[in-house]
Amino acid sequence: MTEYTIAILGAGIGGLGMAAKLKKEGKSSFVVLEKADAVGGTWRENTYPGAACDVQSHLYWYSFDDQQPDWTRLYAQQPEIRQNVESFVERYDLAPHIRLNAEVNRAEWDHERGRWLIGTTAGEQIVAEVFVGAWGQLNRPSFKGIEGRESFRGASFHSAQWRHDVDLAGKRVAVVGNGASAVQIVPQIAGDVASLTVFQRSANYHVPRMDRAYDQDERQLYRGAARLLESREAFFAEHESWVGAMKLDANPVLDEFYRIARELLETQVPDAELREKLWPDYPLGCKRVLVADDYYPALMRDNVELVTERIAEVVPEGLRTRDGAVHELDVVIYATGFETLSFLGDLEITGRDGRSLRDVWHDGARAYLGTTVSGFPNLFLLYGPNTNLGHNSIILMLECQYDYVLQALRTRAETSAVALDVRREAMHRFNDRLQETLRGTAFAGGCTSWYKTADGHITNNWSGSVGEYQEAMRTFRLDDYEVLQPATA
Ligand code: NAP
Repeated sequence: MTEYTIAILGAGIGGLGMAAKLKKEGKSSFVVLEKADAVGGTWRENTYPGAACDVQSHLYWYSFDDQQPDWTRLYAQQPEIRQNVESFVERYDLAPHIRLNAEVNRAEWDHERGRWLIGTTAGEQIVAEVFVGAWGQLNRPSFKGIEGRESFRGASFHSAQWRHDVDLAGKRVAVVGNGASAVQIVPQIAGDVASLTVFQRSANYHVPRMDRAYDQDERQLYRGAARLLESREAFFAEHESWVGAMKLDANPVLDEFYRIARELLETQVPDAELREKLWPDYPLGCKRVLVADDYYPALMRDNVELVTERIAEVVPEGLRTRDGAVHELDVVIYATGFETLSFLGDLEITGRDGRSLRDVWHDGARAYLGTTVSGFPNLFLLYGPNTNLGHNSIILMLECQYDYVLQALRTRAETSAVALDVRREAMHRFNDRLQETLRGTAFAGGCTSWYKTADGHITNNWSGSVGEYQEAMRTFRLDDYEVLQPATA
């Protein structure tokens, strides 16, 4: 059994940023527990061709890092992001704190000792005063609604579990789905395969990416962190100004987004019938707006076909659609997204009085400020419920959470508390207001998305601008917490 002050679950971009912030604060008693054999989280897992971030590189990095990466492109690709994550680990000397191949499957609040007892699948136990969950929202592949996958005779895999040993050259390939992952994959593989069939269930709005490499002069300019941070600030302000595009009611920003998306479609897709299929029937922002200008041109290729008939089932030869047609295939790529709503996967978290977090969240995950949950003392979630965004960089949300956790740690020390547990009323008050505001956002519009449950409870997205979240997170309000002292912990 090993004891730490803080245990962080997940060595992705969220958990590693927290670890570096702790180091900067002079803290050394912490561990980062990671199920995989390497760091990087989503940027380790997603190795599909074309994997890249759809937020500009300058805005997709920690502002507190004194040595900003030497980004080669406007929109960084996965290998570069992963490499920067690895060098971040080196520069902050985080490796001694990271335990790889340590898959946590349970965490239990020990009421007597005021500690978290954290267990791994290998049967190890780690004891920590504070437990920080940074396991991400987008890492449990979903195949929901796809029947008969095991019957397929060819090769098939999920976009986040790319089979680099499967040669696609000259093959009849299908991509199921047309979300953020699929639109990056399709242009990359279309030229190599014999035929590519894209199965679209619902259309998405696209806006131009205009990606480009930075030239040597620009890179030189940005090597002084100050200029890069200025550029970051400009991208931040631009993205913030887009928050109107995430609202349901008409407003000039939303109008402009519709105009840009329509113009891209009209310019890149000459065929009116195809345009009809590619234009969504739900409000813009309801699902993620895709930043892609090479997807429609890829669909225009002679060897690429868009199928909008629903998939009925997977059969040994390929995919059978509801009209009875069997699409014969050699390879099926499932770009079908992730299970995002449980927030827990197989992880069992037990709080005060034996309360299970899974039970507490049975009708939708919720937290106070997306970070703490009543009945689960000293548990802090990073990129937890309602902290995803449709218009700006998640790094910004994480940075608010890091500072919030640090404030909580200071408050805990100042009050000589064993633990801080957010009050039920505070959490409910926050969530009632949040869901009320969310009703006016595009996320509440008439579409299905990974942001909400079947009955419309929005579990994943924040309701407003990043500025509003920063404001809400600026001060740690002790009144909203129960302070558990040694005798009462
Ligand atoms: P996704 O956005 O959830 O897209 C999944 C796609 O699969 C959708 O088109 C969905 O159709 C389709 N699908 C799911 N089940 C299906 C079924 N049974 N039959 C037919 N189609 C089915 O997943 P993703 O593309 O992996 O992206 C997830 C998130 O990851 C993104 O929203 C984004 O936040 C992040 N991401 C970011 C980047 C980037 O930065 N560029 C890249 C990749 C991913 P419906 O729309 O009809 O449900």
